[in-house]
Amino acid sequence: MTQIYNFSAGPAVLPKEVLQEAAAEMLDWHGSGMSVMEMSHRGPEFISIYEAAVRDLRLLLGVPANYKILFLQGGGLGENAIVPMNLVGRVSAPATIDFVQTGSWSGKSIKEAARYANVNVAASGEAGRFTSVPPPSEWKRTPGAAYLHICTNETIDGVEYNFVPELGDDTPIVADMSSHILSRVIDVSKYGVIFGGAQKNIGPAGLTLVIVREDLLGHALPICPSAFDWSIVAAHDSMYNTPPTYGIYIAGLVFAHLLRQGGVAAMEQRNIAKAELLYGALDLDDFYQNRVAKDCRSRMNVPFYLRDESLNDKFLAGAKARGLLQLKGHKSVGGMRASIYNAMPIEGVQALVDYLNEFAGRT
Ligand code: PMP
Repeated sequence: MTQIYNFSAGPAVLPKEVLQEAAAEMLDWHGSGMSVMEMSHRGPEFISIYEAAVRDLRLLLGVPANYKILFLQGGGLGENAIVPMNLVGRVSAPATIDFVQTGSWSGKSIKEAARYANVNVAASGEAGRFTSVPPPSEWKRTPGAAYLHICTNETIDGVEYNFVPELGDDTPIVADMSSHILSRVIDVSKYGVIFGGAQKNIGPAGLTLVIVREDLLGHALPICPSAFDWSIVAAHDSMYNTPPTYGIYIAGLVFAHLLRQGGVAAMEQRNIAKAELLYGALDLDDFYQNRVAKDCRSRMNVPFYLRDESLNDKFLAGAKARGLLQLKGHKSVGGMRASIYNAMPIEGVQALVDYLNEFAGRT
């Protein structure tokens, strides 16, 4: 069988070792006689799985003791409503939320938040067709804003923050890290809230991760569903309602796997090498094009265009024949996109680069 490399933006490739472990334990987890899917979330077996997942994630990201790690449902888009419902009550009404718009996903966050508060787009990369992060010196923030929302990696546009904004005041920063969490070292203490859907670097879709500083709990609006009120979820260790147990289990296997690989710092070095290899091939001449400013290029999601777009179908068919799957770009922007998450080995990127060179007729 041809070696398959899956470049999907998400749900995305997972470490093979994790899938093998899950397969081996599918029918009988650690001699319990049960699949993890069949266990009560309140039983000692699942509680041990949950506790190990939280402990390992805390270690991987260096999550300080005054932050809660919550496992929720609803995905990244769910959080676009859940975040404002939990945070606008921090300030007196009418609340304003500041946003930096760097692409499709921050755009969706702005739209949803407008249902709960005034929204101020402090800066937008729209005029430049979302090819860079507007510099913080140009952000027009609102004094007393409930929080500032940023999307630190725009999965569709391929734009990634290479810095943490220093606001110089106590406005909490809320970061949608769905598509690059665990891919690079971050300083959690610089953020008020970090959230992300699991289906890229963490595990299966259906699990949503929220990391929240404790002093931001307890401000949920009365309309916030109890199951999405972070203070209630935190008080119940993510078991207020039945959490996505199998997703938490797989995430836990991924976290343990990452620790065995050397943790996030080691992943970051591998991700830098993979991104350099791929962008190097795209930049070699003008056969391919990535339009993002070099210092804002995502290490995880690499959108690119063929100079001659009439060759798109031929490119994709040739890629598929070589086992290089899911390279078609998002329908809103067209072209191609290679997502090279933690679980994509450098061999996969090399196979893509070999094909890029072959298809371009480079010798
Ligand atoms: N934010 C970002 C950065 C994303 O990449 C995605 C999904 N691709 C979302 C939000 C939406 O996540 P979900 O589909 O889990 O709601």
